Amino acid sequence: MFYFSKSKYCDFRQCPKIPWLKKYKPEEYIIDAETQARFNAGNEVGDLAMGLFGEFVEVTAFKKNGGLDLNRMKVLTKQHLAEGTENICEASFDYRGLYCAVDILRKSGDGYDIYEVKSSTSPENYVYIVDTSYQKYVLEKCGVKVNSVYIVTVDPDYVYDGVFDLQKFFRITDVTDLVNAELDSVEKNLKEAERVMSMMHEPQIDLSESCNAPYPCAFFAYCTRNLPSPSVFDLYRLGFGKKLELYRSGIVGFEDVAAQKVPLNDIQRRQVEFSLEEREPYIDKNMIEKFLQTLSYPLYFLDFETVQPIIPQYIGTRPYQQIPVQYSLHILQEDGTLEHREFLGRSEEDPRRALAERLTEDIPADVCVLAYNKSFECSRIKELAEAFPDLADHLLKIRDNVKDLIDPFQKGYYYSRGMGGSFSIKSVLPAIYPDDPALNYHNLEGVHNGSEAMELFPRLKDMPKEERAKAEHDLLKYCELDTYAMVKIYEELKRVC
Ligand code: SF4
Repeated sequence: MFYFSKSKYCDFRQCPKIPWLKKYKPEEYIIDAETQARFNAGNEVGDLAMGLFGEFVEVTAFKKNGGLDLNRMKVLTKQHLAEGTENICEASFDYRGLYCAVDILRKSGDGYDIYEVKSSTSPENYVYIVDTSYQKYVLEKCGVKVNSVYIVTVDPDYVYDGVFDLQKFFRITDVTDLVNAELDSVEKNLKEAERVMSMMHEPQIDLSESCNAPYPCAFFAYCTRNLPSPSVFDLYRLGFGKKLELYRSGIVGFEDVAAQKVPLNDIQRRQVEFSLEEREPYIDKNMIEKFLQTLSYPLYFLDFETVQPIIPQYIGTRPYQQIPVQYSLHILQEDGTLEHREFLGRSEEDPRRALAERLTEDIPADVCVLAYNKSFECSRIKELAEAFPDLADHLLKIRDNVKDLIDPFQKGYYYSRGMGGSFSIKSVLPAIYPDDPALNYHNLEGVHNGSEAMELFPRLKDMPKEERAKAEHDLLKYCELDTYAMVKIYEELKRVC
């Protein structure tokens, strides 16, 4: 029997090789932090949406080993259909091995409506139509009349006012016509999927637009394993379509790029040249000097850490709003004296007011502030100013004084081979200081990047005292390294001039 699910079907529609690889080479599946966050968000929002229409039953059932008990879920679904239950969540169906669970199956007239819940803020995604057309196909094969199909997404304009409003948090979009138009192709696609999944050898499918859309494919590293490294897919800020064009025309490695004289911008050209031959770092002293002249002592090196809750936790905030919860600040005097200050909010409460107050105490309104990729810090400061008008004047002056330490790298004044075409602080720092263990993020305990910090902070409030103290220490050390790294990068710019 051919077993398939709606997630496999969606994978198949992105690229037929994805479900095959998931089945036969699961160890090659590399899930990045962004994808994992999307999955987690989906679960969180899915649970919340169950109550969207009031009373509901959820048929989710588990086996002793913790896995989903699909048979039990199907039995419970049948029972509730027979009883005429109004709202069935995770309603489960199986038609000859084709399995699907409907987020919310809602009784409507002589049939049912399907509500598919997404953590996204936009209903416009072709995958949602693929997903729900598969659901409608399976349900109708199981004898359930489906009248309408809806996509439930998060309303990005919803503002939490202290009382959570489920109806306002979600937006419901009728996609019945789109699903009906797609429905005819489901059977044909499933036949093809059955053929592909029964193949004992890997499907011969080359790289295509599907590798990056609708989502970056988790098998990309596997499918590009035989390409030279670096390849055109590593070129700095080149669109995926352009990379694909080069690849299809036989220009794959950087040798090909150089030999074929592919038109490149200055940074891409430097990336290729430095990769092909050992060179001393490229340093444009004149431009770096000009950049340094825009700065003035004392220098305030600032970095925020944020959380981005889908379900707003604090009054006046929206879904997915970046909430600053922590900062690190290094203050460098002209005589080389270095001072460190820091702030870490309490996850039990809205940390923004305390953070904004401390920020205005720590940073005078008229000093030079340095951030790395400053648009992030500037946006957070602007949002704090909007939230706390009494602090706005000072905060906006801080924002206006922020200079961007990424500029000398992003604008091409300083390039070394180790950067590999990336100017993030985590690429620039080891390229400049390859052997300094104090500047190595891997040597940190617990928290090594912003995603880990974002995931850890909301959990602090539920931790036992000792565990929490350790987690807070890890968060502080991580953020401190971000601004210390900026100080060291600044020192390097001074040194080369
Ligand atoms: S990387 Fe591309 S070719 Fe490989 S499985 Fe994914 S989508 Fe298909």
